[in-house]
Amino acid sequence: MDQLVHAFKYCPVCASALVAKVVGVREYAACPSGHWTHWDNPLPVVAALVEVEGRILLARNAAWPEKMFALITGFM
Ligand SMILES: [Zn+2]
Repeated sequence: MDQLVHAFKYCPVCASALVAKVVGVREYAACPSGHWTHWDNPLPVVAALVEVEGRILLARNAAWPEKMFALITGFM
C-alpha cells in the first residue's frame, strides 16, 4: 500500500490499520478483519424526473420490498 494515499488510515469499526486489498485491477484500503473497505471511488451521480402524461415514472429494484420505488438514477 506504499503507493496509495488514502484519506482513511484506520477501520472506522475496529480501529485496525487498513491494508491493501486488490479487487480486479484496482487496489483499495480495507480492514484486515473485513469490517470496512475504503473504495476511494467518488462518482458523480444523476437523478432524473421522467414525466409521462402528468405522472412521474419511478423505478423499482427487484430486490426491494414490493411497494418500494425510487427516481431513475445512475452514475456518470
Ligand atoms: Zn475493522
